[in-house]
Amino acid sequence: MLCKIIPDKCIACGLCQIYAPEIFDYDDDGIVLLTHDHSAQQEWISDDEQRNVLTAYRKCPVRAIEIAEK
Ligand code: SF4
Repeated sequence: MLCKIIPDKCIACGLCQIYAPEIFDYDDDGIVLLTHDHSAQQEWISDDEQRNVLTAYRKCPVRAIEIAEK
């Protein structure tokens, strides 16, 4: 599963890190980043994190997280 983030849409609500703290992080303004690579805008998600990432994807109020199946 490929997870993409769209920081331009992010409203810094903080929900995604609650649901998937291993995957999502924030910059100093609270805008979403990927934990493993702060300069990346997409990441392949391991099987054991997919459920958490899907929850974050569904909860994001502005669709700043996108999911693409392999
Ligand atoms: S849930 Fe969406 S809007 Fe909220 S911090 Fe995460 S990416 Fe940004």
